[in-house]
Amino acid sequence: MTATTNSAQDVDVLIVGGGIAGLSLASELAGRCRVALVEAEPSLAYHTSSRSAQQLIPSYGPPPVQELTRRTLEVLADAADGAGRRLVWPSRFMLVGSRADVEAESHEGMRALTREEATRLVPALRPGAFEAAALDTDSVRVDAPALLAFHEERARAHGVGLHVGAPVHSAQRVGEGWLVGAGAEGFHAANVVNAAGAWADDVAVLFGVERLGLQPYRRTAALVSLAAPLDPDTPMVAAADDTWYFRPDPAGALVSPSESEPSRAEDAVPRPGDVEAALALIRAVADLEVTGIVRAWTGLRTSPQDGLPVLGFDPEGPGFFWLAGQGGYGFQTSTALAEAAAAQLLAGPEALRTGASPVSGTQRALDPHRLSVRS
Ligand SMILES: Cc1cc2nc3c(=O)[nH]c(=O)nc-3n(C[C@H](O)[C@H](O)[C@H](O)COP(=O)(O)OP(=O)(O)OC[C@H]3O[C@@H](n4cnc5c(N)ncnc54)[C@H](O)[C@@H]3O)c2cc1C
Repeated sequence: MTATTNSAQDVDVLIVGGGIAGLSLASELAGRCRVALVEAEPSLAYHTSSRSAQQLIPSYGPPPVQELTRRTLEVLADAADGAGRRLVWPSRFMLVGSRADVEAESHEGMRALTREEATRLVPALRPGAFEAAALDTDSVRVDAPALLAFHEERARAHGVGLHVGAPVHSAQRVGEGWLVGAGAEGFHAANVVNAAGAWADDVAVLFGVERLGLQPYRRTAALVSLAAPLDPDTPMVAAADDTWYFRPDPAGALVSPSESEPSRAEDAVPRPGDVEAALALIRAVADLEVTGIVRAWTGLRTSPQDGLPVLGFDPEGPGFFWLAGQGGYGFQTSTALAEAAAAQLLAGPEALRTGASPVSGTQRALDPHRLSVRS
């Protein structure tokens, strides 16, 4: 099916993808220009954005990610939903492991702990089972469904059309814009934003734009029930060698084997043994008496080769903007990325090229121009 120019709705920005990236941008642009969002699935945030661990950790990730996370936390610190419930709240993050691994992973903002201090904070930890620990006290938990709903409501309130069951199936350059077919809808868009997560490279191809080499990686998590509940104030605890993590949850605990296995873009599901493998490793370090697996899921964390998100106009695709490759940082960077994307889209590519609209060093680090598959 191809959209015709006559039936197409005119917008300034068409966002492809209704996960946290696309919804944050729709909410940021709402009321500032004509925006529509198309989501392939019958509901918003069906894929990775409904499968995260809901933790925002300022010390996690390379420096540009840390800067984006600090900005996101600054904005979300006082945010509340329509019923006045806070969207984020303090939730400390602790690394444990060998001295070398903890030192290597303890980024700025983390404080070294003695083993006694670590076990006082997390009594389930066995002091003889790890050498070193470090703590991030600025880490927060986010209510991911509430944050997604917050952005959805803000976008809808300003007339942003959010179209579900609308996969982009055709795109052609018409005049100064794009004529896009998505499900039964048609759009004439001055700019298209690619916020399609694991499918971002496939969406680029639909627009005749070269792929950036974005690779989806599987990651599984599960809610498990416990014989004895964890204190809700217990920090999230992660192995410094990235082989497992757990944190308290009203159901008992959330656990993950922290795997990072390349995958094709798909509706990923856990494999037999994934969760049990994590539990075996966790049991070696902590006394968590797991009584059952309540629910397990797998999501795809998608990154380019250098592990940084991709934000900016495509070097060769006019009016084609990337907001992808957020890897394991999609929630913690979401507000800062949406702000930066909105500023660049509203200024236009020309303003960026001429320097009329300056971009920060961090934004330059995220520019799609940098990716080697293009050179
Ligand atoms: C187990 C796990 C734990 C995680 N924990 C955290 C955490 O604690 N903190 C954190 O910050 N991040 C975490 N992440 C990462 C975070 O969840 C992701 O970075 C984020 O959800 C990515 O959001 P997105 O909007 O880019 O992608 P998605 O949520 O996947 O959204 C992309 C959307 O695009 C749609 N789409 C694809 N193709 C088309 C098309 N042709 N037409 C229309 N729509 C299309 C898809 O259907 C999809 O809904 C975790 C991830 C996993 C898997």
